[in-house]
Amino acid sequence: MAAMTKEWLGGTTIFAEMSALALRTGAINLGQGFPDTDGPESVREAAVRALRDGRGNQYPPGPGVPELRTAVADHQRRRYGLTYDPDTEILVTAGATEAIAATLLALVGPGDEVIALEPYYDSYAACIGMAGGVRVPVTLRPRDGAYHLDLDELRDAVTDRTRLILLNTPHNPTGTVLTRAELAAVAELAVERDLLVVTDEVYEHLVLDGEHLPLASFPGMRERTLTISSAGKTFSFTGWKVGWVTGVPALVTAVRSAKQFLTYVASGPFQYAIAEALSLPDSYFDTLRADLRVKRDILADGLTAAGFDVYRPAGTYFITTDIRPLGETDGFAFCRALPERCGVVAIPNAVFYDHEKEGAPFVRFAFCKRDEVLREAAERLRGLRDSA
Ligand SMILES: *Cc1c(COP(=O)(O)O)cnc(C)c1O
Repeated sequence: MAAMTKEWLGGTTIFAEMSALALRTGAINLGQGFPDTDGPESVREAAVRALRDGRGNQYPPGPGVPELRTAVADHQRRRYGLTYDPDTEILVTAGATEAIAATLLALVGPGDEVIALEPYYDSYAACIGMAGGVRVPVTLRPRDGAYHLDLDELRDAVTDRTRLILLNTPHNPTGTVLTRAELAAVAELAVERDLLVVTDEVYEHLVLDGEHLPLASFPGMRERTLTISSAGKTFSFTGWKVGWVTGVPALVTAVRSAKQFLTYVASGPFQYAIAEALSLPDSYFDTLRADLRVKRDILADGLTAAGFDVYRPAGTYFITTDIRPLGETDGFAFCRALPERCGVVAIPNAVFYDHEKEGAPFVRFAFCKRDEVLREAAERLRGLRDSA
């Protein structure tokens, strides 16, 4: 048998392992980031209507249904002043996950280097590997209560082999939202070195402090940026898998070429429902953020009271903590023991690192759960000090 040289083969993700552990122990699962309540009733009804009316029950058009592409274009223009042609510059995908896969398969070849912010979302490493690329992590490091991008390190990571920078803001798992100055510096570097940038902006509507700035809106960036987003997090329907890519025609066409051999198309009726969701009034998005702020604060305060060092996130669903104040140093061992110790499941950040040691003492908790679930988790975590 040929050697198993593909590192992602045969493994189960940490999320599967920890969710199984949650099930077995009855622990509160703050591991995987999915909400425990569904999104707006009106959007669910829109999906039911589409199903009943026979819209999207057969293969939708390869680039996505026109209603959704138009809605994405309207959204980008209204929110960010970015104009995209729905016919040539927008592609609908099976969630952001497929958008990431198709983008990397389309643009990255054997030996090409992809710079990605570490810790990174788990599918990045797998997809860079599937494309035959080489990942070059640039590590975000905690300082003054938040994670920061070291711009010198980013600059030093660029070589003649760099194919693209893969950015994620708001950032999972650290909850960091890149600042205007940081994004401007990334843009300057990309223009100077003539690089493509792929930005994963699935948490664009989950910025709790500050504002989301799409990299494509910076000078010189529209023509070299592929922006990826998705309905899953914004509308609390992570199972629907409706995502999209926006960018100039040549880049979007390349991604579509790869995408057509992955799923071809997906989520027909849900595409119509998300087209409606994207035009929900501002009050929907404001309430989403306000509710999430409350959740973040319940869990962050609980974690602080339990003795963790807490990096209070400016966005996303996640809080990264440092376990060293609890006398612990190994996040893997800590997370494997946590369900038995106090009935809560979390994820060791080390799984999001190439430099595992950098991530060893950090642990991620998801706060996209009902307030009472978070309060109960906080209560349980308070017992940690006693069981140390
Ligand atoms: C959840 C998530 C995704 C996947 O989005 P889907 O639309 O569910 O495929 C992509 N990137 C990041 C950073 C995420 O947290």
